[in-house]
Order: sequence, then structure tokens, then C-alpha cells
Amino acid sequence: MIPECPARTSEARNRTWCHGQTAESNRNRSGLLCEIKSIIKTESFTEHYDLIPGKELGRGKFAVVKKCVKRSTGLEYAAKFMRKRRKGQDCRTEIIHEIAVLELAASCQRVVSLHDVYELPSEMVLVLEFAAGGEIFNQCVAERDEAFKDEDVKRLMRQILEGVAFLHSKNVVHLDLKPQNILLTSDNPLGDIKIVDFGLSRMMCNSQEIREIMGTPEYVAPEVLNYEPISTATDMWSIGVLAYVMLTGISPFLGEDKQETFLNISQINVSYAEEELQRLDKAAVHFIKSLLIKDPKNRATAEECLNHPWLQTHEQNAAKETVKLKSVITSIPEPVSTGISSQHTEEEEEEEEGRVTEELLVMSAYTLGQCRQSSEKEGLTPEQKAISKRFKFEESFPALQEVPGEFIY
Ligand code: ADP
Ligand code: MG
Repeated sequence: MIPECPARTSEARNRTWCHGQTAESNRNRSGLLCEIKSIIKTESFTEHYDLIPGKELGRGKFAVVKKCVKRSTGLEYAAKFMRKRRKGQDCRTEIIHEIAVLELAASCQRVVSLHDVYELPSEMVLVLEFAAGGEIFNQCVAERDEAFKDEDVKRLMRQILEGVAFLHSKNVVHLDLKPQNILLTSDNPLGDIKIVDFGLSRMMCNSQEIREIMGTPEYVAPEVLNYEPISTATDMWSIGVLAYVMLTGISPFLGEDKQETFLNISQINVSYAEEELQRLDKAAVHFIKSLLIKDPKNRATAEECLNHPWLQTHEQNAAKETVKLKSVITSIPEPVSTGISSQHTEEEEEEEEGRVTEELLVMSAYTLGQCRQSSEKEGLTPEQKAISKRFKFEESFPALQEVPGEFIY
């Protein structure tokens, strides 16, 4: 059971929020929000929460996430411990931004909710709603019988798009949408999705262009690699990759190494001939094709995706059929219901103390790559799956030419 994010007290709101401030003014030049409403507590975290021993939920580049229980209520949470200094630099501003984005999305069910914030001498702790089902990554790399069914993918993709549409309506771009950052409230039965990790997210602004080289190689859009402006469409590319991976277990642009992955992305070298795609509903392939388009302007938006025929429920399809039938009977022109704009055609320090290594990265890439042929999937050992599960896209790199790790930042 996911605990509800309780309403904040007016006291909390008044103490730290500048009245009359808009999201527009609450933003610095690099698209980071700099004001938060939450009270940052400085008392001892462990006085109020018990950490569950051995329950590390995940680990990223500068964060460790642990399961904890609030003493006063007995409710479970996920505590994200974030280092304030990273590679010798003070990163408190980035953490404040992450908190601010979580606050901005507090009313959105599809985004993990923030319960509490603590500041320790060298870390900040974000106490988050606990997503007990873990990352959807696990099902993405699983054998076919444990992997998502097509109907599951549809439901989860609808939920992901609802979350992304909400964020985009608030001018927030996530910029790191990938299976490790999409969690589930439960895995058996399959629950609902929760979007996490706003560490790379940015606020978009009309007058200001954001160009940054960051993201995760397999999911990064061509404009990021070309150092062209980033927009909400950048997230939509990642949604296209995500849909491909969730439906097939294949990472569409993954190459032997990062250079090859980047080349595949910038050349839109994606195969629609894979056996796993052939068995899919044509509408699912059309959905992916409407997103994996080089020019960001031509990609479907989150709202358009939600109206795509692939994601319509049986009831919605039935309702449309009824409308069609009526329109034929009364000779009224049929309503257009694709929802996809006309230009979309078919053609179209861790840091982890050295534990995250290039070798793991290669193993993980290999593991996902192995999913490409269904016959080869049988060859996956539990160890390989474990490695791929543990794998995190970690290291930063200053230049695209020298790609030491798996994280662009
Ligand atoms: P990072 O910025 O370091 O990638 P994330 O916020 O993505 O940090 O968290 C790292 C991992 O911790 C996630 O990929 C996930 O496995 C786990 N995790 C994060 N938040 C939660 C949560 N609310 N509930 C359960 N697990 C979580
Ligand atoms: Mg993450």
C-alpha cells in the first residue's frame, strides 16, 4: 500500500514560499527551480525514521535509496540520500530543484510524492512515497513469460504519458525517462506507475533555450547529441524508446559501445523488422514511429500520444465505432480520431565506490542486447539478469568523444 502524500500545513507553506512568486520567477538561468515550500528539517533523521536493514532499494550516481519506516505512523517510505558535494562541487541547488519539481507535481498521481526533507551535514534526505513494485526495468529484461503482456504495456504507457503530459503542462522536462526511473506501486499484481528521479529535469521557458548534454545513452534524443535545443519533445523521444523496450525487450539503438549507440541514434538507425515487432499490433508500431523521428517538431506530444488509437481502451474504441456508425447513418462526416498530427506518417562520484564499472555496463548492455533474439533469451543466466538489474547508468563524462561510462551529464 502506497502511503498518501499528506497535505502540507499552511505553516509549512508560509515559512518557505515567497508569496506571489510564479514558477517563471522561481527559476534560474539554467532551468533550475530555486524555491521550495517544504520545511527542511535539520534534526536527526533516524530519530523519526527507522531504516530497514539490508533494504537498499536502489543506487544512482550520487544517491542511495533505502526503505524506511516512520516511527510515529508505522508507514513505509523510500529515503533518497543525496550527497551535497559531487566531484568537488556544491550541488545543493540541484537538490533543491529536485525537491521543487516534486512539489510542483504533488497533485499528479503518476509522479512519486515527497513526504519529508531532511538536511544532514553532507547529505540531504528526500523521504518519498515507497514504490513497492520496483523498477519496470526488471520486466523489460525478463524472459517473455515474466515480461509485460501487451495489454500491461498499454495500461502502463497510458499512465506514463499521463505523468509526462502533466509535467509538460507545467513546462517541466524530465530528461531521463528510462525503465530505471519508472517504478511500480506493486509488481504482483502489476500496480500503477510512479515517475521518479528529477535530477536531470529542467524548467522550460519560452525566451530561453536549454542545450545540455545529458541523459542516458540508449534513451537520449538526437538533439541532445547534436547540442541542439532541448524541449518537451526530447522526453517524447525517450517515450518512443521506452515503448519499444517495454514491448519487445530490445533496446532499439543499443550498439556494441557507446559510440555505436550514439551513431545509431543520430542516424535513426532503428529496425522495425524485428520478429518481436512483427507480432505486435500495427498501431503499437505506428505509435513508436510517431516518436522516433529526428526533428523534434514532428514528434507526437504526450497529449497526442494519449489519443493514439493504440492506447484507446476497448470501451473507447467501441464508443468510437458507435459514433462512426451513427455518422454513416446520418451522413455526417466521420470524426477524425487518430490524435496524431498530419505530419506523422508511417515513414516517418560515485561513485558507488568503484562498484559500478565499465565491465558491468558492458555486461548490462550485453544482457539487454541478448534479448534481441528470442532464441538467445534462453541463454540468459540468473547471474546475467542480476547484473543487468544492478546496473546503473552512472559515470559522467565531459566530452562525447571520450565516453567512459553510461551517463551523459
Ligand atoms: P538517481 O538520481 O541516483 O538515479 P533515483 O531517484 O533514480 O536516483 O533512485 C535510484 C533508484 O532507487 C531507482 O532507480 C529505484 O530503483 C530506487 N528508488 C528510487 N525512488 C524510489 C521509491 N520511491 N520507491 C522505491 N524505490 C525507489
Ligand atoms: Mg535514476
